[in-house]
Amino acid sequence: MRLVLLGPPGAGKGTQASNLAAHLGVPHISTGDMFREAAASGTELGALVSSYMESGGLVPDDVTISVVRRRLSLEDCGMGFILDGFPRTLPQARALDETLEEMDATLDAVVNISVPDEVLVRRSSGRRTCSRCGRTYHLEYDPPEREGLCDDCGGELVHRSDDREETVLQRLHVYGERTAPLVDYYRSRSLLRTVDGDSSIDEVFERIRSALEAAPE
Ligand code: ADP
Ligand code: AMP
Repeated sequence: MRLVLLGPPGAGKGTQASNLAAHLGVPHISTGDMFREAAASGTELGALVSSYMESGGLVPDDVTISVVRRRLSLEDCGMGFILDGFPRTLPQARALDETLEEMDATLDAVVNISVPDEVLVRRSSGRRTCSRCGRTYHLEYDPPEREGLCDDCGGELVHRSDDREETVLQRLHVYGERTAPLVDYYRSRSLLRTVDGDSSIDEVFERIRSALEAAPE
């Protein structure tokens, strides 16, 4: 299964992609996670992307596209993948089409998780991310067993610097300008399934599973 999860920051893409990846047995590919790992390990890529991420802007398309092309060429993507946070612009979507064509593959579906803006801000302000493995929690809706520590690896949970309210508002603005047009792009290709993401994590997971069995919009 080859899926794209689309939706504004805080919609639950990472949470659902991780559950879907475990359920379907395919890799979860998050460009945000890849960039954060690069920034934390101080690589050349990390130095390049940090300022864009800090300001709530997008990393340039050429950089992002080459990172994803390389990732999709790895063997573990042979049975499929779940893309979370990519594509985020029309040039990225076109580059994904070209890459898939070269792989002689097609997307099965694009799941658009829809959540009202005020809920997105609450989700981002309570989001905590493991500084070691990247797993995401929420102080109120999905807390860890031990306060401040990751259930999986014991790493320290941190509040992402781009989850400060003013940066979240900037990211929402960027989403509206640059990423929202992808909804029409994928609708016109008969790939889109919109799911109401304003419900519990388990309920949204069930909605996505049903949407994947239903006809596209
Ligand atoms: P995205 O990857 O779209 O930015 P995340 O999956 O990281 O979003 O979710 C944002 C925050 O909201 C996280 O703290 C996560 O634990 C929490 N969250 C995700 N889905 C839900 C949900 N359905 N209900 C409540 N909180 C949620
Ligand atoms: P995310 O974890 O998906 O919220 O992404 C965090 C940040 O990484 C974004 O605000 C961008 O700065 C950057 N980023 C992630 N994915 C992309 C992408 N596909 N295109 C450009 N920038 C991205």
